[in-house]
Amino acid sequence: MIYDLVVVGASFAGLACARAAALAGSRVLVIDKKPDAGARLHTTGMIVKDAVDSIPWLRDVPGELVRRIEGVRFYAPNLKYLNLHAPGYYFWATDVPRLMQWMVGIAQAAGAEVRFGALFTSVGREREHDPWSVVLGTGETVLCHYIVGADGPHSRVAKSLGLSQNRQFLFGVEHEYAQADLEPNYLHCFIDSELAPGYIGWGFAGVGVTQVGLARRVTPGSRQGRVDLAAFLRKTEGCVTPHGTPISIRAGMIPCGGRLPHVARPGALLVGDAAGLVSPATAGGIHSALRFGEEAGVAVARFIAGKAPDPATWLPRQYPTYRLKRAMRAVFEWTQGDWTYNWLLRTRAMRGVCERVYFHSKGTPILRSGTGPG
Ligand SMILES: Cc1cc2nc3c(=O)[nH]c(=O)nc-3n(C[C@H](O)[C@H](O)[C@H](O)COP(=O)(O)OP(=O)(O)OC[C@H]3O[C@@H](n4cnc5c(N)ncnc54)[C@H](O)[C@@H]3O)c2cc1C
Repeated sequence: MIYDLVVVGASFAGLACARAAALAGSRVLVIDKKPDAGARLHTTGMIVKDAVDSIPWLRDVPGELVRRIEGVRFYAPNLKYLNLHAPGYYFWATDVPRLMQWMVGIAQAAGAEVRFGALFTSVGREREHDPWSVVLGTGETVLCHYIVGADGPHSRVAKSLGLSQNRQFLFGVEHEYAQADLEPNYLHCFIDSELAPGYIGWGFAGVGVTQVGLARRVTPGSRQGRVDLAAFLRKTEGCVTPHGTPISIRAGMIPCGGRLPHVARPGALLVGDAAGLVSPATAGGIHSALRFGEEAGVAVARFIAGKAPDPATWLPRQYPTYRLKRAMRAVFEWTQGDWTYNWLLRTRAMRGVCERVYFHSKGTPILRSGTGPG
């Protein structure tokens, strides 16, 4: 049998794509190397309100898989903080393993076949209009008319097709604790140029657990770049204070260089992290993975049905370029001295930047300041 579409990667981008294509009538196979949907997760899983507003099926996510957080407590290196709220704005903390299982369920209900434990190794075809031969780790070959690479930051699909690959990364580590003391209505974000160069540390009360993490810039080829979560926990004790040992640990690379230049060729498309669709300012990629995963699925199905041109020729032009957010990242990298942020946190300009980064300029943030125990 020849599938219309093979999607590599059963995560946010791949499952959104598969569901949309299957709903539009395509025969879809999703393959993922993980043993099951909830295994080997690397993400914190925070979903922004803009995603919930723009992707209708997210409103069907069972309530017990998400927890709404309405404010951000933004700490300078000296632990002085600002409380930020924007009227009506919120973030969803999610139970990521169960959310993934739920997403597999809706993709299957739409008619997609999902296979775990299936490693993608290569793809090729003799001539442009031949079907693709997708080779799995077992040596099995699957045939399809279209292939979508939703296989994350180190995309093997991109490599096999000669497309662009991510080169700039942050590395993030996150621990989950059963119990912790912290103010539960905030996403706590910490700036520290030693512990989190190029990014931040965070902590928040998630769905039945407390998640505490730290990410930093990775310099290619350098041995520097250890993420010292223990030192971070010592520093932030009293602001975010977990008890006992972590019940789960997640870690992974976050592309931060913005959209890649070559993400498609006839009959093939990259989406999500594989295409570099991660905001260089916030390092959030779930919203764009879901949005463009879904758009790719609809567009591929229309192409297969002969109703639209190959999305490889037009969809990547709609991917965000993150020009402003790349500039914000460059400024952040350039200015990230502790004294700078101790001072900046008191200024109006900094509040404007926080507004844009956390609330995408939605409404006027309500600001309160205070001092952490440090
Ligand atoms: C520590 C950390 C915290 C983060 N926190 C947030 C956050 O709170 N909010 C947010 O918006 N973003 C966050 N991100 C970024 C976000 O996780 C990604 O942008 C998002 O997961 C991208 O989804 P994706 O579907 O493109 O790729 P991924 O989620 O990376 O999924 C890729 C899938 O492809 C599979 N795969 C890979 N290679 C192969 C292969 N050869 N064969 C078969 N299958 C393969 C993998 O098993 C995986 O299931 C975080 C990232 C990290 C590392």
